[in-house]
Amino acid sequence: MDSKQSSPKKVLMLPWLAQGHITPFLELAKKLSTKNFHISICSTPINLTSMQHRITETQSLSIKLVPLHLPQLPELPPHHHTTNGLPPHLLPTLKDAFDSASAEFSKIVQTLSPDLVIYDFLQPWAPTIALEYKIPAVEFLITGAAVVLSFFSLLAKPDVELPFPELQLMLQSFLKAHPKMATAEDGRGDMISILECLKKSCKMILVNTFKELEGKYLDCLPIFIEKKIVPVGPLVQEIDDENKDSEIMQWLNTKDELSTVFVSFGSENFLSKEEREELAHGLELSGINFIWVVRFPMGEGPKVEESVPVEFLDRIGERGLIVEDWAPQAQILAHSSTGGFVSHCGWNSTLESLKFGVPIITMPLKYDQPINGKVVEAVGVGVEVKRDVNGRLNRENIAQVIRKVVKDESGVEVRTKAREFREIIRMNGEKDIDGHIEELVQLCNEGKWFE
Ligand code: UDP
Repeated sequence: MDSKQSSPKKVLMLPWLAQGHITPFLELAKKLSTKNFHISICSTPINLTSMQHRITETQSLSIKLVPLHLPQLPELPPHHHTTNGLPPHLLPTLKDAFDSASAEFSKIVQTLSPDLVIYDFLQPWAPTIALEYKIPAVEFLITGAAVVLSFFSLLAKPDVELPFPELQLMLQSFLKAHPKMATAEDGRGDMISILECLKKSCKMILVNTFKELEGKYLDCLPIFIEKKIVPVGPLVQEIDDENKDSEIMQWLNTKDELSTVFVSFGSENFLSKEEREELAHGLELSGINFIWVVRFPMGEGPKVEESVPVEFLDRIGERGLIVEDWAPQAQILAHSSTGGFVSHCGWNSTLESLKFGVPIITMPLKYDQPINGKVVEAVGVGVEVKRDVNGRLNRENIAQVIRKVVKDESGVEVRTKAREFREIIRMNGEKDIDGHIEELVQLCNEGKWFE
């Protein structure tokens, strides 16, 4: 049956409350909205506000934002039901509040009666609710395939041979960065419980990646899970014109082509004082222009001028711009003066950098970031800033990697490779999702199969 001729299918989406999850869900919604799907995205009011201005009038005809009200726990800042800027120690509290909204989500499912639920891996209760109402559920993994493969291999029998050596390395760095994932109280680990639930209850897995970047990891996923796995990436935020004339963009306009690094660590990661100092000195020593987004957990930060070494701002003068809290990242990466990205390797940041052909100076902090950093290096679009045995950064090292990636002869290959990825992404267009629309439509029809 041709999906274009049938009535629109109703999809209910439930992303986790982080910027890095909301963005790919919204971009997926936009793609599906052009393929005869009507989408409802369910999230907290604060997150919906951040999405609202990214939906055009035309898109709003088929994308609706549905509020999910979480209980106001006293520990959480009022109405701040998002991870964006949340002090990291409050993340488990936010997760608890989110989990206790499952009953409200159930009511939303009942009211909207969707044909399909697309949920995020951080809410294993979503597919269970979908199942109760006989609605098929699809998991959308907003991470890369290497990360998923690493998680799955945690579940594997010890005698499973992994087909490439760097996977072991990735797994080690992941476990080092986030040991609780594999050793929670029940002995199973957070991620393991999530994945076991996934194995049982979802019908198909969408992954925000593409085969030219992670083909070999995607090919291996069937060893661990018998589910249809569909790469739908890269789904990255669109550039709007809103910030075109902002101070930052005007400053960037004055810089030479490919002369500047953008320095940012995402929406929920914060550097220690020591890391900030090393980075400041590293940027200074590199001699390369920079825009640095300096960020602190909500309500905790000192003034920006107090957060960097004394007289740093005077010394760097016009060579550097410090931005407080938030910058229009996609616009900056797309600008012709940007020649490198000092990044924590959040998956969205990684994909955005590749989309705009910007090579990466990788400085992963936690979660999936060390694994993403390895992927970036493995495909030759980035170079890692190595830490010492105690996990400390070193200013000379930072400066050297920045110079290599942005300017030195030794970085030509990395720069070329990043540009190649920009071309691949441009050429691929929407091909990946196009090939799977009919399968999604069929899944939507499968609700009847439960009866
Ligand atoms: N972002 C931004 N401006 C900032 C910091 C982050 O626009 O100053 C956006 C960035 O473009 C990306 C998202 O926030 O789309 C962060 O997602 P990512 O997966 O890279 O990192 P996370 O915040 O999840 O660690």
